Amino acid sequence: MESRRRMRSISVGTPGDDVSQELDRLIKLRGRDLRLRKVDQQNAVKIVNHLIESLLDFLKNNEDQPLFRDVSVLTSGSYYEMVKINKPNEFDIMLKLKVPRLEMAELEEYQGVFYNLKLLKYTREEIKHFLLEDERTVSATKIKAEMHRLVRKFISSHFKGKGWVVCRKLVNSPAVTLEFNNKEKEDDVMSVDIVPTLEVPQGWPQAARAGPNINNWLGKKCRRQIVSKAVYFVPKRPKGRTLTDNAKESWRISFSHIEKEMMQYHGNKKTCCESSSNKCCRKRCLQLLKCLIEGLKQRYPKELEPLCSYHGKTAFLHVLSDRVTDSLWSPSQLSVSFMNLFGYFERRALDGSLPHFFVCHHNLFSPPAFPKRALTFLTNALKEQRDLGLPVLKMPSPSAALVPDPDALVPDPDALVPDPDALVPDPDALIHPNPINDTDSIVAARSYVLVYIGLLVVIVCVGIGCAFQN
Ligand SMILES: [Zn+2]
Repeated sequence: MESRRRMRSISVGTPGDDVSQELDRLIKLRGRDLRLRKVDQQNAVKIVNHLIESLLDFLKNNEDQPLFRDVSVLTSGSYYEMVKINKPNEFDIMLKLKVPRLEMAELEEYQGVFYNLKLLKYTREEIKHFLLEDERTVSATKIKAEMHRLVRKFISSHFKGKGWVVCRKLVNSPAVTLEFNNKEKEDDVMSVDIVPTLEVPQGWPQAARAGPNINNWLGKKCRRQIVSKAVYFVPKRPKGRTLTDNAKESWRISFSHIEKEMMQYHGNKKTCCESSSNKCCRKRCLQLLKCLIEGLKQRYPKELEPLCSYHGKTAFLHVLSDRVTDSLWSPSQLSVSFMNLFGYFERRALDGSLPHFFVCHHNLFSPPAFPKRALTFLTNALKEQRDLGLPVLKMPSPSAALVPDPDALVPDPDALVPDPDALVPDPDALIHPNPINDTDSIVAARSYVLVYIGLLVVIVCVGIGCAFQN
């Protein structure tokens, strides 16, 4: 099989960028599938928009917590960007709370990603109900708890019996998660993450000053504009069981508004994706990588628990800042571009180093957030995906019905791995990816021989029997 795959290899791009025909077809088909998915999302967007508008209205008029009266949706208008690929109906909404000026105090052991947020001076404003004993530090847990309580109250007063439920609070998540279950269509589930957010307008923290490296890609002017923007914080604490009191009340820095903007104006030339004649495949490549990550997580939920789509997004941004020329990303180069991104992600995993795109001293692949065992597992899983022609991209998706011909996703039945279940989710199996299939074929060959011998014996016996009768 291996030699055949190599024989069919064609060069689709720059020298060295060999992508086999099957792989090229698979990547393109999956890309098309992702484009169709967007149409399906429109109904969900309508329902979510209605929910969020009602929630904002409820908060504005709420009697019990004045701090939450003055919230605004951050990055409004695009809050239905695809968060997850395999579950297109998951939404992320950041609600910005209005607070007096804050200062950031970095928690040193987390290399610039977690902070305590303090008021510059004592205040009598509404934030005073959400401070710690020092009357200066904003409590992440108190803000999160209040957000949760208000959303719960909102659902029971405005959306009771209409399918929305508030999920259990998770200690490591900054969000209040709402789930919608459609009674008519049971598999039609939708979820919305509502994340309270604080803004710190006065410049980026020291740890983020060096990044991001976008001079060659978006230009120096764009970099200056980006760095002059405010940064945001969400109530998320670091992972781990033995956290200090400071860490328990910490906030995680978020650049999602800037990431979103960079994705929107992503070209080296301002004209990229402005018209159909200069479309590029950058966004599609990111979607494919997210798809691959989700697929791996679905297959190995325990082993790859620390992996998330942000690892993919980070790798993607690094590749964009290095592979800057728009023509390299033309739609016809989808497979080459994606394999380039995949290769980068693979190398980062192998090196155990994936620097945060903005806080470059922070390694997203370092323990305890990403334990060594999980990283080894990821490295093996990625290698396996490469060796077997990315079988995880062939997984049936929830909206598979939208794809005109699902079989078309499997271009050549015996060229790729016939049975995805043959991938056994334990690390040893990853080293010898396909023992089961090999054994099966040996057993099958042996049984054919046995059947032939059996038939021969029967014929000879019948022949002898006839001769004796005569
Ligand atoms: Zn473009």
